[in-house]
Amino acid sequence: MNRRGLATSVASRAGLLQLLERAGARPALAVLVYHRVLSPDGHRYDKAVIEATPEEFDEQMGMLKRRHSVVTADELTDVILNPTKLRHFRVAVTFDDGYRDNYDHAFPILKSHGLSATFFVSTHYMDSRRLSWWDQVAYVIRKSRRSTLKLEYPKRVAVEVDRDAPDLAIQTILRLYTRSNADLSCFLAAVEEACELRVPDEAEDRQFMSWQEAQEMKDAGMSIGSHTHSHGILAAMTAEQQRAECRESREQLKARNLTSDVLAYPVGSVTTFSATTIRCAKDEGYRIAFSNYGGVNRPDAMNPFDVKRMNMNIDETARQLRFRLALSRVSRRAAW
Ligand SMILES: [Zn+2]
Repeated sequence: MNRRGLATSVASRAGLLQLLERAGARPALAVLVYHRVLSPDGHRYDKAVIEATPEEFDEQMGMLKRRHSVVTADELTDVILNPTKLRHFRVAVTFDDGYRDNYDHAFPILKSHGLSATFFVSTHYMDSRRLSWWDQVAYVIRKSRRSTLKLEYPKRVAVEVDRDAPDLAIQTILRLYTRSNADLSCFLAAVEEACELRVPDEAEDRQFMSWQEAQEMKDAGMSIGSHTHSHGILAAMTAEQQRAECRESREQLKARNLTSDVLAYPVGSVTTFSATTIRCAKDEGYRIAFSNYGGVNRPDAMNPFDVKRMNMNIDETARQLRFRLALSRVSRRAAW
């Protein structure tokens, strides 16, 4: 049993879970963020963005429906902009990137539980077979035969790859980029050289949702927001580039009558957006922007341009999620 499983089991047996749920009556908004709902078996791209299988997601949504007050997509913007309306502990479900499996798997499950969610899409990828940079990197590292990858950029480093389980190496190399604010095309060129393979621009099958699928989800009560246009790290760009990323995405959403004033910063960790990012987002007409580095939002500390979210983890049972939410009621930061 892993750490999460052990903690949940001990807490449940000791009656701590129920105690936390009763004690933590303070108003707060916990926003969950998923990327992909998919079986990771045989996946050719980045497995780290798969946070639940369809079965796990179904159990998690069932638990949320039974035990929590889940905000609708419309209520979400309302309680963020008017935090005094947040009178008890509430939960929201969000998705980043706009993957096709959100439509194929998550959407029918959400509907079956009578829940709605907000889906932040990067407009450049919609309706195409384009691959995101993290999926491109994961794909070539999996395909490469090299057991040591020597990268020259963003810094000179040699990463050992377990050819039977390359996921650790994939994450190590992806972090070199997300933590350095490096230039994306230089980074991709360095990965190509290290893997001795060309990074493919397109997937064999479409990975992201189509505009028609987004529209269908919106018509069924889901909300579609912006995750910028091309999903570059905003803090690494000039102010003008950041503005263009925010503007292009907003215009594309607006043209299709989809929600255009809520944004989720790509990656969303503290180093990936800045005061300049916030100013650009405001200037381009966004009213709310979500980060992604943990924590819940208390009404007295709600920041509409840094709405905190809790990342989901693969293999997290519904009970473990219940425990994590219970802990987040009493601590400033959500555990694990
Ligand atoms: Zn993203």
